[in-house]
Amino acid sequence: MKRLKIALASMGAGLMMVAVGLLPLSTAAVAADKGLVGISMPTKSSARWISDGNSMVEQFKAAGYSTDLQYAEDDIPNQLQQIETMILKGVKVLVIAAIDGTTLSNALQQAADSGIKVIAYDRLIRDSGNVDYYATFDNFQVGVIQATSLNDALGVKDGKGPFNIELFGGSPDDNNAFFFYDGAMSVLQPFIDKGQLVVQSKQMGMKQVGTLRWDGAVAQARMDNLLSAFYTDKQVNAVLSPYDGLSIGILSSLKGVGYGSGDLKMPFVSGQDAEVPSVKSMLAGEQYSTVFKDTRELAKVTVGMVEALLGGGTPEINDTKTYNNGVKIVPSYLLKPVAVDVTNWEKVLLGSGYYTADQIK
Ligand code: BGC
Repeated sequence: MKRLKIALASMGAGLMMVAVGLLPLSTAAVAADKGLVGISMPTKSSARWISDGNSMVEQFKAAGYSTDLQYAEDDIPNQLQQIETMILKGVKVLVIAAIDGTTLSNALQQAADSGIKVIAYDRLIRDSGNVDYYATFDNFQVGVIQATSLNDALGVKDGKGPFNIELFGGSPDDNNAFFFYDGAMSVLQPFIDKGQLVVQSKQMGMKQVGTLRWDGAVAQARMDNLLSAFYTDKQVNAVLSPYDGLSIGILSSLKGVGYGSGDLKMPFVSGQDAEVPSVKSMLAGEQYSTVFKDTRELAKVTVGMVEALLGGGTPEINDTKTYNNGVKIVPSYLLKPVAVDVTNWEKVLLGSGYYTADQIK
């Protein structure tokens, strides 16, 4: 140590700077940073977006990028401001899961003017030509899976019925909500037409069944109203719910009037995202099914897109037809959603390491 001090002290200031500049550690740190990626997520109120954010930060870091991850708590001006700040910070790419898919056009124009690439994450960004790629799941198929699980539970394919069903849709400002609803209706409508499924409220179509901001409390209040207006002398047998957070609200409403006890059988209720409270609810015999979308895989596809874009290559896509955002068809990569109920949850959710058994206890 003493000898080192003497050696350093004997160096001139200029020489010192050269020596520091050559330290292997700092060289490695510079070489590893391929640039800043801005990740704009809608809210922390749903666990899936937290998993998405964490997986992306982890995977972008491993690939040599630094990240700026922000959550907007479902507030549109907040998300806009976060994106504008990312642009000012000089991100190379923006990865955005929009709260309202139609409100980002101006910010994205700024991004394009600064040469920043944009990836729509999970939710399509609408009304802007400045969206380069879209990484998502097969959203129509999500709805198909939800409705199929209800139909199978009821046995309508075996000719059973009539059964009473009520329909819930997602947030009308989220393009996905329409795909989920249309996918579900492609499966339910033929049985509604045959009279095996009956929507007592007659409330159908996204205008009537949409749930702004995917808010569980809004769904719970609507279910309360449906039950008191249409089910005082009838039982509801199934509820199409597009997202676990809504399912939990719908189930509390149902439990509030006695479903799930005595001879009031709990209706079959679908869901999406395999969130922990819903997995627990399925195990308790309440929620019937959910849809698992592996957010780690979506993060992986997104990191791959960024690597290709910034490396001068072409991102891998598997869909060039489905997602017209009003200005262009956004080239997309669609992952496969997976149906989950009590029969396969362990294999799918624990087997894949998405959850540990302790988290579900
Ligand atoms: C996502 C779903 C999620 C919903 C509510 C949708 O855009 O695709 O996975 O359940 O938003 O957060």
